[in-house]
Amino acid sequence: MRYISTRGQAPARDFADVLLAGLAEDGGLFMPEAWPHFSPADWRAMRGLPYADLAARVMQPFVGTSIPFDVLRTICRDAYAGFGHPAVAPLIQLETNLFTQELFHGPTLAFKDMAMQVLGRLFDYVLTQRDKRVTIVGATSGDTGSAAIEACAGRDRVDIMILHPHGRTSLVQRRQMTTVHADNVGNIAVEGTFDDCQDLVKAMFADTGFRNDVRLSAVNSINWARIAAQIPYYVAAALALGAPDREIAFSVPTGNFGNVLAAWAARRMGLPVARLMVGSNRNDILTRFLESNDMSMAPVEPSLSPSMDIQVSSNFERLLFELLDRDPEATSKTMLDFRRTGRMNVADPIWHRARGVFRGFRLDDAGTEAEIRRLHAACGYLADPHSAIGIAAARALPCGGGVPMVAMATAHPAKFPDAMERATGHRPALPPRMADLFEREERFTVMPNDLGTIEAAVRALVRRNA
Ligand SMILES: *Cc1c(COP(=O)(O)O)cnc(C)c1O
Repeated sequence: MRYISTRGQAPARDFADVLLAGLAEDGGLFMPEAWPHFSPADWRAMRGLPYADLAARVMQPFVGTSIPFDVLRTICRDAYAGFGHPAVAPLIQLETNLFTQELFHGPTLAFKDMAMQVLGRLFDYVLTQRDKRVTIVGATSGDTGSAAIEACAGRDRVDIMILHPHGRTSLVQRRQMTTVHADNVGNIAVEGTFDDCQDLVKAMFADTGFRNDVRLSAVNSINWARIAAQIPYYVAAALALGAPDREIAFSVPTGNFGNVLAAWAARRMGLPVARLMVGSNRNDILTRFLESNDMSMAPVEPSLSPSMDIQVSSNFERLLFELLDRDPEATSKTMLDFRRTGRMNVADPIWHRARGVFRGFRLDDAGTEAEIRRLHAACGYLADPHSAIGIAAARALPCGGGVPMVAMATAHPAKFPDAMERATGHRPALPPRMADLFEREERFTVMPNDLGTIEAAVRALVRRNA
């Protein structure tokens, strides 16, 4: 399998290159040169497989010859062995034809683990093959940092340094990052804001000498391997509910559009997906697009569902590329104009294509709390604010015709105890395997917002493991 850039100015690459590169050199996003296709018989043959084995089968055509199948399957088995539920991504029924799939049983209790646990191991394998090491740096205001740390901790070929704004993350989020004790993990609390942390990361990438010395890399949400590792749970849910002999619909609380794009990819591979609901909070750029072809940037407003607080959804470019019949010139022009004007110009027939499968839904904080309360009263289910938006979206626009709708639950309710308590009167406990989170020893260093100081700390981490 080879990958091409949505902007058309980068050479085609294989899976291993795309994994390590993340973004294409022309600023575009990598897409498979051709979509793999599974026949109804292929899908049926996957019914009843353990989750990790199913994941390896679904990912195999994307990985191609970069990694042998038995290695890929071992990687998947190893990645999901540490999850807190034997089904890995269990399906729960909430109503007639309404289900939720819990994607939060990984080490950091959020859906990012579903892909990141595989990604860290893929990195290790490919880097070992090439006899190389990389250093991952990232800035986080919360969830992505901990998922990246859990994915990289103890890996042989990777060092990871995560910057967070000192005193500005929730205690659970900070402790999830700072209590992971591995020689290849570093945490810096920057005396500044999240934006300062992001600027420091950008400055490290822009410092060519430093970038080459420590072989800087990132594991951000545009990495194709993350999308590929998110397709299997849609397949698992669909097969459990009768696909390929029955249609199914999904509802996804959305931020950077990576999760719902994986559902779209499953459909493109032949899974009978009737509809995809895109849930948003008050930061509703995607909902405005899907309702009225209005994709215009607006300032980010904080909400109860912080992982969906976005101004631009970076993975949308991948869907745009497909809607434009994979025309890289048209995709580049649309994206560059969007960056310049803050408004995306999509012709009506193209927009109608998107509406062929996607629908948007928005819910403000008050609505989110009301949905959490309603769900708890109706069936005793505790959905975190992100998941509650997905469930509300599914209820708002049922498919009819007996098509089951699956809403993706993307975070464990215990990550948002205050919102849960306000809505339901209950303060959800951390799962037993994490109950001692607040007793574990923290390791992080407070540092000034100064590039030289931070780079020296990264170099010291790299030297320790060289
Ligand atoms: C990252 C995240 C999302 C958004 O997923 P995207 O792939 O960025 O659309 C939703 N909910 C939670 C809890 C997340 O961590």
